[in-house]
Amino acid sequence: MTVATDFIALDTLAPAANGPRATSSMAWRGTPLVEPREQFRVLNAAETRGGPTGTGHFDSDLAASGWPALRPETLEVVQLNLGKLCNMTCRHCHVDAGPDRTEENMDQATAEACLDLIIRTRPRVVDLTGGAPELNPHFEYLIEECVARGIHVMDRCNLTILLARRFTHLPQWFAERGVEVVCSLPHYRQLKTDAQRGTGAYRKSLLALTRLNEAGYGFGDPRRVLTLVTNPVGAYLSGRQSSLEREWKAALLSNHSVRFDRLLTLNNIPMSRFLEWLLETGQVTSYLDRLLAAFNPATIAGLMCRSTLSVSWDGYLYDCDFNQQLDMVMDLNGRNAHVGDFDLQAWRQHTIRTGRHCYGCTAGAGSSCGGAIS
Ligand code: SF4
Ligand code: SF4
Repeated sequence: MTVATDFIALDTLAPAANGPRATSSMAWRGTPLVEPREQFRVLNAAETRGGPTGTGHFDSDLAASGWPALRPETLEVVQLNLGKLCNMTCRHCHVDAGPDRTEENMDQATAEACLDLIIRTRPRVVDLTGGAPELNPHFEYLIEECVARGIHVMDRCNLTILLARRFTHLPQWFAERGVEVVCSLPHYRQLKTDAQRGTGAYRKSLLALTRLNEAGYGFGDPRRVLTLVTNPVGAYLSGRQSSLEREWKAALLSNHSVRFDRLLTLNNIPMSRFLEWLLETGQVTSYLDRLLAAFNPATIAGLMCRSTLSVSWDGYLYDCDFNQQLDMVMDLNGRNAHVGDFDLQAWRQHTIRTGRHCYGCTAGAGSSCGGAIS
């Protein structure tokens, strides 16, 4: 397939004090940490304390909080990860996405099987993610088919992709179909955004936001919702979502005349390239300590794995996009679940697979694809 050519220049690694810097994909560099097995080894080797039991064992802390097993509730969101191909290589990326990840991209047969599942299960939301999902050749087809059936579609967009020649039509195209655009932006200030995403990312992001505003996004229209998503540029937890939203709205409006509808705050999950940065800067244990110290039982009921089905580019099913990147395939009816044979009844009864990375979702106000939980 064709790959967008206007990639943002890669940056070099930086000291911890300056926060993460854009990098290349671990797959491209062939680092051992690209293997989920190695990521688990690093995480589980950290001698961390805190949490309800002081064991650093997520399931034990769940049980001590009144949740002997984590099970789904209602299927509300089908999240399709269309592939690992991306025009950027952000330092915190949990997908290890990048321009070199051309192999992992959803094909037409899998896209059709996803549509069958969506039609059968009628989720409230279809959430398209990646990589940059726009780079998948079936991206617009999937949206057209969902919208035609009255299903709300979200595109998880990195903003800069909207400036690539093949995608400049998308703001207006989205607006005509009522697609919610959920845009990642590390910070409303240039320094922090460029640090994490690469030099020039901020300028391009602001230009893309302006184009979305011109298409009617960001003014409170329920058919043209512009959501921004931010994650900390460093080894700390997200700030309070409601107050950050006020701060961001004021700053982007006064500095750049840019408007948006809502801000979601996420914690960085200790895995993939963020884990690599923690490892390089000697912060694995201290970051886990921070997550465990902030363990919040009130977030458990609202964990996204209880209402989301995550589908990978090759059609396997997972409890969330994080488990997907860690190869933790969902076990339904005693076998690796696949989009072609999804069993809703079995899904409702299965036990969600967890690990230490899950502490990223239960820390502070909690963290999910829908932002803070509690
Ligand atoms: S964080 Fe998003 S934009 Fe950045 S490399 Fe990963 S998928 Fe691409
Ligand atoms: S990483 Fe978060 S969403 Fe995924 S299974 Fe763990 S708690 Fe659930």
